[in-house]
Amino acid sequence: MAKRKIAVIGVGKIAQDQHLPVIDKSEDFELAATVSTRGLGHNGKPVFKTPAELYAAMPEIDLVAICTPPGIRHQYVREALDAGKDVMMEKPPTTTISELDDLVAYAKSLDRVLFQTWHSQYNLAVDRTRDILAADGVKSVRIDWRESVRKWHPGQDWVWEPGGFGVCDPGINALSIFTKVMPFPVFVQSSKLTFPVNKQTPVDVEIVFKSGQIHQPTMSAGFNWLEESGEIWTIAFETVAGDSLKLEKGGTVLRVNDEIIVEAPSEEYERIYERFAVLLDNHESDVHAAPLRLVADAFLLGARVNAEPFEW
Ligand code: NAP
Repeated sequence: MAKRKIAVIGVGKIAQDQHLPVIDKSEDFELAATVSTRGLGHNGKPVFKTPAELYAAMPEIDLVAICTPPGIRHQYVREALDAGKDVMMEKPPTTTISELDDLVAYAKSLDRVLFQTWHSQYNLAVDRTRDILAADGVKSVRIDWRESVRKWHPGQDWVWEPGGFGVCDPGINALSIFTKVMPFPVFVQSSKLTFPVNKQTPVDVEIVFKSGQIHQPTMSAGFNWLEESGEIWTIAFETVAGDSLKLEKGGTVLRVNDEIIVEAPSEEYERIYERFAVLLDNHESDVHAAPLRLVADAFLLGARVNAEPFEW
C-alpha cells in the first residue's frame, strides 16, 4: 500500500527530535511538506509559512501533525479540520478543556479523524503496571517528575506565559501514565504551585490526589523543573497485596519489589504513528482529556507560593 502523505506543522524541538525522524523511517507515512514560521524544511520537501498556504498549494495532502505549543492548537486544529484534514495533535492538546471539547465535537461533525497523542500510552511497562494494579489493588502512589527546563525547553519562552503550563508541561506526561494505569478515577484534593516571581507559570508543583474508594489510597505527585542532576521520571506504587512497583525512566522500566520485570526501549513516537495509521484505517478518533483535567484542577485548587526569579 502507498504510504500516506503527511505535513508537519511547527518545526520546533519535538518535531525535529521525534516526528520528522520517525516519519522518515515509517512504513505507513511519508513527509509531504512542513509549515514553519522560520522557514525550516526537511529533506527538500516544500515549506510553507502558514497552514493556509499549505492547504491552498497542496490540497491533496489530507493529514497533518500539529507540533506547535498548545496555545495556538485550537485555532490550528479547527483550521485543519475546516480544510478537510485528519489531524494528529501534540500534547498538551489545548490550554483549556472547553477548547478540547469543541475540537472533539467539531471533528465529529465534519467526520474527520482527530488523534490526541499522550506520553507513554503504548509502553509495555505501563500496560503491565495497569494489569497488576487492577488485580492487586492500590495502597499508595507517589509520582516524582523532575527535570531541567534549561535542557528540555531551551529558550522556549512560551512555557512561562499564561497557557504555557510551566512544569505541568512535562508533569502532564506523568499524569498520562497515572490516568492510564489507575483502576479507578482519581481527583485533585489539593495542590501547591510555586511560581518564579517574574513568570506566569509554575516551576514546581505538588499535588495530593483522592479517589472515590472506601479505602483511600495515599496518592501524590511532585513536578520540578530545576533538577540539574538528570531526569527523575518515576512513579512508585504499593499494592494492597503488599508489593512495591516502580515505573522508571518515563514509564519504560517496571520494577516489582526492586527486580526489573519489564525493560523496553522507548519507541514512543513510533507507536504514536502506528496508532495514527490504525485510526485512519478505521476512520476513528482517539482523544481523552483525563490528564488535562487533572492539570486544570491542580491550577483551580492551587495555593500559590513565590520563588526566586527564573532566568535562562
Ligand atoms: P518548540 O521547540 O518551542 O517548538 C514549537 C514550534 O511551533 C516553534 O519552533 C515554531 O516552529 C512553531 N510555532 C508556531 N507558532 C508558534 C507560537 N505562537 N509560539 C511558539 N512556537 C510557535 O516546542 P516543542 O518542545 O517542540 O514543543 C511543542 C509541543 O510538543 C508542546 O505542546 C510540547 O508539550 C510537546 N512536546 C511533547 C513531548 C512529549 O514527551 N510527548 C516532548 C516535548 C514536547 P516554526 O518556527 O517552525 O514555525
